[in-house]
Amino acid sequence: MDTHRVKLVATIGPASDSEEALKKLMLDGVDIFRINFSHSTPKYANNIIKIINKLNLKLKKNTGVFIDLPGPKIRTGFLPKGSLDIKEGKKYTFGPSGDIPVSEEVVHNVDRKKKILLSDGKIELKPVKLYGDKLIVRAMNSATLLDRQSVNALGLKYEKGYPTKEDISAIRFGLKHGIRTFALSFVSKKEDIIHVRKITGKDSTLIAKIERKEAVENFEEIASLSDVLMIARGDLGLNMDVAEVPEIQKKLIISANRMSKPVITATQMLESMTENIMPTRAEVDDVFTAISEGTDAVMLSEETAIGQHPYAAVRMLSHIIAMSKSVAATANYPAVDERDALIDATVSLIQKTGIKDVVVLTKSGRSAFRLARFHLGIRIFAVTDSKSVLCALAFGRSITPVYIDKLSGYPTTVLKKIKAENNLKEVILVTGFKTSNRAVEGMRIIKL
Ligand code: PEP
Repeated sequence: MDTHRVKLVATIGPASDSEEALKKLMLDGVDIFRINFSHSTPKYANNIIKIINKLNLKLKKNTGVFIDLPGPKIRTGFLPKGSLDIKEGKKYTFGPSGDIPVSEEVVHNVDRKKKILLSDGKIELKPVKLYGDKLIVRAMNSATLLDRQSVNALGLKYEKGYPTKEDISAIRFGLKHGIRTFALSFVSKKEDIIHVRKITGKDSTLIAKIERKEAVENFEEIASLSDVLMIARGDLGLNMDVAEVPEIQKKLIISANRMSKPVITATQMLESMTENIMPTRAEVDDVFTAISEGTDAVMLSEETAIGQHPYAAVRMLSHIIAMSKSVAATANYPAVDERDALIDATVSLIQKTGIKDVVVLTKSGRSAFRLARFHLGIRIFAVTDSKSVLCALAFGRSITPVYIDKLSGYPTTVLKKIKAENNLKEVILVTGFKTSNRAVEGMRIIKL
């Protein structure tokens, strides 16, 4: 593994769901796959999970997989003909059994002074006036509306509650099939995470997707209860002023690093590669920016789900990650507790000795994430006895997660295995947890 390795997440879809395609993507550098339940059935997901498990065994890999829950996304209803050709300048009714069918709550909640976006922003509507239970809207552009498309508008309330019925059945499906990692769409507050954790149990990895204004405002409380964060720039750019997104991204990455929480930057990273074999220069720059800001992982969506060049997109993203290593951010974080101080001491030991391999024994993953955020160009082997922590560690920059049945102060067998697989001569061993009531955390140099 490259010492500056930023993790690569890829979304599975029709362009990448065969065994052959998944194998190629794994070999080309995907660390973690995303199954998006907004577009997947349990049968489809079941097949994908089976293939990934089989390939992991065959290729001796640990490629992760998580389920992205649909969340309370607001959508238009079904259209009488399955589609509607919207014409620029023409007026339409927006409401229950209107030309554009949506629920009465949606009509009453939208801010009538602001635009309404349909279908991920492909259609823009301007509210004209309220007429009974419907809103008269004017189309600002021409496009075809299909059934069940997204609705984004200021003021919209997600009245379905959190999590939704669909989320709960997707979680139950995942747990039954050995998936412990779930991405939570459209969270707005810490209670959303608490409610999901009640269903998934403690032994789960929850990724909070930040894609609403409220989630940006409540970032700290959401982040403190989540295991991983995702800056979901697609919906964020529709729910807020798109020009605010770059600054929000930067601030959230800095906050996530400060809180030692792994963070994924997602959506449209190499969007033009859904059609073209080469990315635009601006897209390459965007990936570089996220990496230099301190993101732990980058994610592909349509590029690998429905794109024409899924392998080229993954290879390109891997290449940009590899080429961006000299810009890895090195930040300073003040130590606020004992464990921070131990990691600070480890950082100084790394800098003085030049040792580039660190084994961190960790119960919660925190010590490994605390070390990873310094972006020192080292390899971190994070050893844990928790399966859910193992899943979270997979998202951390430069971290190789290693599972052990039971953590001990000196894990002889695991150290031998890490040494053999990575050809190591010496490592710094950090014990990031209390091995007994009287023992404290510590670190030492070990010649292997
Ligand atoms: C996003 O909106 O950026 C996102 C990642 O969510 P989804 O792809 O599920 O719409």
